[in-house]
Amino acid sequence: MRTHILLLVEDDDDHADLVASHLDQKGSQQFRLHRARSATEALERMTGEDFDVILLDLSLPDSGPEQTLETFTTRFPDTPIVVLTSLAEESLVQRAIDSGAQDYLDKSLMRGDVVTRSVRYAMDRKRVISRLERQNDELKRFAHTVAHELKTPMQAMLTALHLVHEAAGESLDKPLQQLLELGRSSGDHMKNLVNDLLAFAEADPDQPRADAVDLHAVTRKVIDSLQLMDGAEHCRIEVDGTLPVVAGAESQLRQVMENLISNAIKYRREEDPVVIIGAAREPGRWVIRVEDNGVGIRPEHQQRIFETLYRVASDNPVPGTGIGLGFAKGVIERHEGEIWVESERDRGSTFFFSLPANGSSAGDDAASPRDGGATTAS
Ligand code: ADP
Repeated sequence: MRTHILLLVEDDDDHADLVASHLDQKGSQQFRLHRARSATEALERMTGEDFDVILLDLSLPDSGPEQTLETFTTRFPDTPIVVLTSLAEESLVQRAIDSGAQDYLDKSLMRGDVVTRSVRYAMDRKRVISRLERQNDELKRFAHTVAHELKTPMQAMLTALHLVHEAAGESLDKPLQQLLELGRSSGDHMKNLVNDLLAFAEADPDQPRADAVDLHAVTRKVIDSLQLMDGAEHCRIEVDGTLPVVAGAESQLRQVMENLISNAIKYRREEDPVVIIGAAREPGRWVIRVEDNGVGIRPEHQQRIFETLYRVASDNPVPGTGIGLGFAKGVIERHEGEIWVESERDRGSTFFFSLPANGSSAGDDAASPRDGGATTAS
């Protein structure tokens, strides 16, 4: 069995001895433990040598608990990390796991072979996660290739059907005209599916979430482009107040706004659509809402519409693919937010999504509209 090389990053000698004494280094000679006393020393060693697992104290002489883990996971994303903690501080531990640590060890609760087990677990967990990430990447690449390859022949087919319709549409028997129309509408549906699939496959889940995204400006651009959409001529789209600046990936958040607002227009009733977009500040987060006076959604569908490809059967006459909300859910969850809907059939729906607020955003003054308030498309 191969020997695994571990790096213990710990400035306190007693704590280092404690960890070493709980690691089974002798028995089967599976582990060799190296030690670094500071973040700088550890990072230097990791640059020159591959370690199987890092046992990392978060409070180091040259790096505080808030930044230590981020420094290591950013520089060495493929190396499993077990965080060492002396205080059973749940929030710190939870944050460490959320930020990419594989496991944690409470130094005050060390006994038996706990270190050995934790190191093994960290290696296994990292291996499984890496494999899943690789498979996920492959699937996305595959989806992208398929969608891309389908685009050209599909466009050719639609153009051919269009030309047949132009040339002979009126002279064909009714049943043939209906078949031609079926071909065209199915082709249109397929085109939408392929476009949505492409957008889905092109969204980079690893895109940095640190950009400052001005949701107000993004939404106004979306509204401008949606005014060109079929059926948008008589609709009123208002932005109520000012939307905040949030941390995120702009292209993905734009796509979310586009999906929600275009759905609000698409799933309309007889009367002209009215869509209102607004934001409310809650502790630690912003909640954005997109409200419509459309067909509404029955309670039994309100969870399921966020599943990819799920459509409410009775809404089928409206063209769609069932990808938009699944995509939106993925984006919002990657931004550490939530998405949900409140709706009543035949009354309308309000879609909400939350995004973390860091308190320093320009949107903190959202109560005072920047540009005189409502944006209306009519
Ligand atoms: P698509 O619109 O392409 O079908 P979505 O994933 O965006 O896909 O939406 C899934 C389903 O949720 C839609 O088919 C529709 O039945 C329902 N839905 C979405 N938005 C609304 C809305 N604003 N009002 C009523 N129903 C909606």
